[in-house]
Amino acid sequence: MGLQKASYEHVLSLKCLVCGKEYRPDDVDYVCPYHGSEGILDVQYDYELIGRRLSQGDLLHCTDYSMWRYRALLPLRADASLPPLTVGWTPLMRANRLAADWGLKHLWVKDDSRQPTGSLKDRASALAVVKAWEKGANVITTASTGNAAAALAGLCASVRQPNVIFVPQSAPSAKIAQLLVFGSQVLLVQGSYDDAFELCLLAAREYGWYNRNTAYNPYMTEGKKTVALEICEQMGWQAPDAIFVSVGDGCIIGGLHKGLKDLHTLGWIEHMPRLIGVQAQGSAYLYEAWINHEDVLTKPPIEAHTIADSIRAGLPRDRLKAMAAVRETKGAFVCVSDEEILEAIPALARGCGIFAEPAGAAAYAGLLKALHNGLVHADERIVILITGTGLKDVPSAMKAIEQAGTRAQVVEKTIEDVRRAVGQMNSALRRSSPSPP
Ligand SMILES: *Cc1c(COP(=O)(O)O)cnc(C)c1O
Repeated sequence: MGLQKASYEHVLSLKCLVCGKEYRPDDVDYVCPYHGSEGILDVQYDYELIGRRLSQGDLLHCTDYSMWRYRALLPLRADASLPPLTVGWTPLMRANRLAADWGLKHLWVKDDSRQPTGSLKDRASALAVVKAWEKGANVITTASTGNAAAALAGLCASVRQPNVIFVPQSAPSAKIAQLLVFGSQVLLVQGSYDDAFELCLLAAREYGWYNRNTAYNPYMTEGKKTVALEICEQMGWQAPDAIFVSVGDGCIIGGLHKGLKDLHTLGWIEHMPRLIGVQAQGSAYLYEAWINHEDVLTKPPIEAHTIADSIRAGLPRDRLKAMAAVRETKGAFVCVSDEEILEAIPALARGCGIFAEPAGAAAYAGLLKALHNGLVHADERIVILITGTGLKDVPSAMKAIEQAGTRAQVVEKTIEDVRRAVGQMNSALRRSSPSPP
């Protein structure tokens, strides 16, 4: 016990974002006892101690190419066992052709569509599994628009951890298939994500299950922050000027902010990038609050509608962290229509070879909107974060293709008919002649 305590001493407290009260990590699991679901907690660290335990030089020699390379910056005991599925250290690639299309000089794409279950949520779910073990929980549960559930399902499958998932019945079928293939117990809620979230809270309390719910569980931000740590390390600790990310509950953008603040406090990066949150027009709670200077603690939920199911949230659960991320970094929220999101799917895929789900492509649509609005300049160093793979939602991709007016040609099984068809593609073949990056 003494040893365990000692190895956890870099975590000072959990601090309520509403009242500022701090709790010992052993005393509170989820939210502030005085402020309920609004009382989101933020993990406080002893950065002096962390700075003595881990240096940029150590990372240079670190051969752990996963999110756990930053375990000194995570709320883990030194002896914590980790799930075997490799999460994190996804590629950060230069997107020079895409940049050239818009007159940009420095554009990178961080590709979290390459996570084991196909979305950035694996970073949070991996940590949830470790924290649940620490608590000795028999069952883990979560509510999700789909990806957090798929991530938890996959991580649990890798360690045979029983889990119960609440998703809206309307979730894309590929995401529901993932849950069932991984062997989760699945409850399809006849309602919205917000309904699934409330049901999951009630059930977790009734049965004593460990709850991974976004924002409600303070550690999800910590898992997601590893994407910011990776971006900065992959850029040689020269932080970008702006990062674009799509926003539903606001946990990813809050996680980005946390990771960047960690690095800034440690003195590993010199400046904080502006965080640009991209919301869908029909699910723009945070965009509206930001534009109208509304208090997100009193602003009522909205009816959320968008094709980008992963950012459909009537009451963003991590709204306090999301607003702070944009405000404190002098960033912005931008808002894009479903049509712009659909357009962005083939545009991103054709511009850099990454096939994203609607919520992933939304980050790119947001970049185009920000360029249009003069929020970014051509010589800035910009990163767009792609949060999920397009294979998660093929019907939306097909809709995007239809909207773009491209379609496949059916041919008879004769070379003559192939010649006829190729005759019609000649101009396209000339236009898309390959060019080196
Ligand atoms: C969850 C998710 C988001 C949004 O993250 P929040 O933390 O809810 O803001 C964006 N894109 C994808 C693919 C996601 O799964």
